[in-house]
Amino acid sequence: MNKSQLPAILSLLLLTAACSTTNDPAPVTPLTEHLTLGNPSGATTDVSQPTNYLLSKPQYALSYHRDRGIPTWVSWHLDASWRGSAPRQDDFRADNTLPAGWYQVQSSSYTGSGFDRGHQCPSADRTNTVADNSATFLMSNMIPQAPRNNQQTWANLENYTRTFLSTGNEVYIICGAYGKGGTGSNGFQTTLDQGRVTVPARLWKVVVVLPTGDNDATRLTTSTRVIAIDTPNDNTINTDWSQYRVSVDAIEAATGLDLLSAVPVAVQQVLEASVDKGPTQ
Ligand code: MN
Ligand code: MN
Repeated sequence: MNKSQLPAILSLLLLTAACSTTNDPAPVTPLTEHLTLGNPSGATTDVSQPTNYLLSKPQYALSYHRDRGIPTWVSWHLDASWRGSAPRQDDFRADNTLPAGWYQVQSSSYTGSGFDRGHQCPSADRTNTVADNSATFLMSNMIPQAPRNNQQTWANLENYTRTFLSTGNEVYIICGAYGKGGTGSNGFQTTLDQGRVTVPARLWKVVVVLPTGDNDATRLTTSTRVIAIDTPNDNTINTDWSQYRVSVDAIEAATGLDLLSAVPVAVQQVLEASVDKGPTQ
């Protein structure tokens, strides 16, 4: 360019910059305690992305899918400080922190469907205070889950996961659901609540176990225990969760998510390719 063109080019650059600031850029998404190992879908609080909307709560973080009426994934940290003696609140209720105008799934939306209101972040992982336990009963933390899956298979892995806390460990848990159509106690259904809640076909979970410490994402090694399962949302499910062990890579391939994305790539690649063979209780 010659010198006479410079002012014109500079004004164009300034104009471009000025315009882009009026364009509602996607909000910056700081990683919280619950997203220490990554944000699997790059969810943000941008209301123009209603199928990947970040709900970051003190107790857990999730990506909400407005059109499915369920989270795509939920992620939370669990260490001994989250556990105490607060009783189960059982106060299932709509999440009124969703953006204005979005349908809020109701505590009654699953009633009579043959599917449980299946907690993603479980009540028993948040017993330090009444407020924290109550937060797990928001319907944004629920997925329609076949009762046998929820009450037995899933519950067995939840219980096993909590046993790590008493042996000097802390845990990161990421779980979610994909596909459409499941079989509850009243048979096969694809949606509930007049189509406003999708019944997923599969529910998956990843559990990362670390000795208690700091700077957690950088402490994973190629021998860190990672348990991953991918289960059918079907009431004939085996109650032994270990029958459903898969690699993290298999879950990533099925869902399009990038799990453990904050973990150094070389470690991530090794951990994600393997299937857990550890004890199951
Ligand atoms: Mn991978
Ligand atoms: Mn990954």
